[in-house]
Amino acid sequence: MAAKIIDGKQIAAQMREELKVDVAGLKQRGIVPGLGVILVGDNPASQSYVTAKEKACQEIGVYSDDNRLPADISQQDLIALISRMNNDPKINGILVQLPLPKHLDENEVLFAINPQKDVDGFHPVNVGKMVAGQKAFLPCTPNGVVQLLLRSGVKIEGAHVVIVGRSNIVGKPLANMLIQKSPTGNATVTVCHTRTKNLSSHTLRADIIVAAAGCPKAITADMVRDGAVVIDVGVNRVEDATKKTGFRLVGDVDFEAVKEKASLITPVPGGVGPMTITMLLYNTVESAKSSH
Ligand code: NAD
Repeated sequence: MAAKIIDGKQIAAQMREELKVDVAGLKQRGIVPGLGVILVGDNPASQSYVTAKEKACQEIGVYSDDNRLPADISQQDLIALISRMNNDPKINGILVQLPLPKHLDENEVLFAINPQKDVDGFHPVNVGKMVAGQKAFLPCTPNGVVQLLLRSGVKIEGAHVVIVGRSNIVGKPLANMLIQKSPTGNATVTVCHTRTKNLSSHTLRADIIVAAAGCPKAITADMVRDGAVVIDVGVNRVEDATKKTGFRLVGDVDFEAVKEKASLITPVPGGVGPMTITMLLYNTVESAKSSH
């Protein structure tokens, strides 16, 4: 039986409506949540992500302080801007779009952000708190995956989740979030990566598969158990001569074949993608709430 499609666009739109209500409530108390956005250089993918983030802020009434900086900015000047934002009461969240140009030290830059404004959840203080099960800003993409599961009625507690990918921004934090002793955790998690032997022996035992490998067709139908839930985080460009741009976006899952076996599945685009920005807005609004 064909899987039900998890509509990330619709779930994200619903969450943004909820956030609009929260923002309106804050405005009545004279509080406007603010996001400081920093983009260094002119990487086209980063530019389009940042533009989408700024637009999303406008839509729900969050103020955004947009800073587009030249690719050759010095580490010192970049950190000075972050310090200004750390001390600016109008800014509740700071977003530094990654990757940064090679001459900049990404770890030092992320470390310069006040953890209380670290709405991407990449600062070691927030990572540590998350691992320890304390209140922290949770990274947006994995938190978006958790929200998609919860809002689609998928029971996480007790489920065996197999995550394919162990990056610091998706696989590792998601694994940590799902093993927490909490209503949104309590899963049994297996994390697979490029050195995993016999990947399908793991994915075939999964109630929930999360593909975050950055590799088209990393998950094929023979790797999925009947009735599993499949979340596809991957965003990959594949050549497509029928498109004006010459490419189209696909995930890590062989969607057409896997949807015949899964019970629920996310499409690419329109699955996890819209949730990432929504969780950034969520963290910014939460930060504004807790700073007053
Ligand atoms: P990454 O390259 O940092 O990490 C990929 C991980 O997958 C690595 O740990 C690697 O060991 C593992 N891996 C790669 N190929 C594999 C294979 N064939 N089998 C098993 N493991 C394999 O990537 P990332 O930053 O975590 O992103 C992963 C994907 O998710 C990318 O396609 C990226 O574009 C996408 N992404 C999407 C969003 C979103 O908002 N939708 C956000 C972040 C990342």
